[in-house]
Amino acid sequence: MDNIYRTTFEDLELPTPTRTGMDTIDFSEMIDDCIDNIIQYEGTRIGGSGGSIVMAICPECCGNSCADADYENGEDSCNGSYNFDCDQGEMSNASWISLYKYESFQNALKARMAERTVVRT
Ligand SMILES: [Zn+2]
Repeated sequence: MDNIYRTTFEDLELPTPTRTGMDTIDFSEMIDDCIDNIIQYEGTRIGGSGGSIVMAICPECCGNSCADADYENGEDSCNGSYNFDCDQGEMSNASWISLYKYESFQNALKARMAERTVVRT
């Protein structure tokens, strides 16, 4: 399994969670899925996009597929991210959509990111 080498939870600059609850949900599958996508963008031109990914905002267009569109055809110009289609700027069908709003999810994500971060020597 790949590890995150540089991105930390703090780097994501997520908004303060507004919802509580879902404390008994096992987020591990969604979280690993989410982290795997963040890793794909590490070291790329849009390497700072981790927070967007956690919020399921398409990192390729920063959620602005319509604004970036070629107005001549009026269609979304964004081809989507690593393994998600772009649905008007949202990562289509990502398993963790909206979960960042939950304190329990952010806590679980923070713990998992710490686990997966390995300092290379
Ligand atoms: Zn997009």
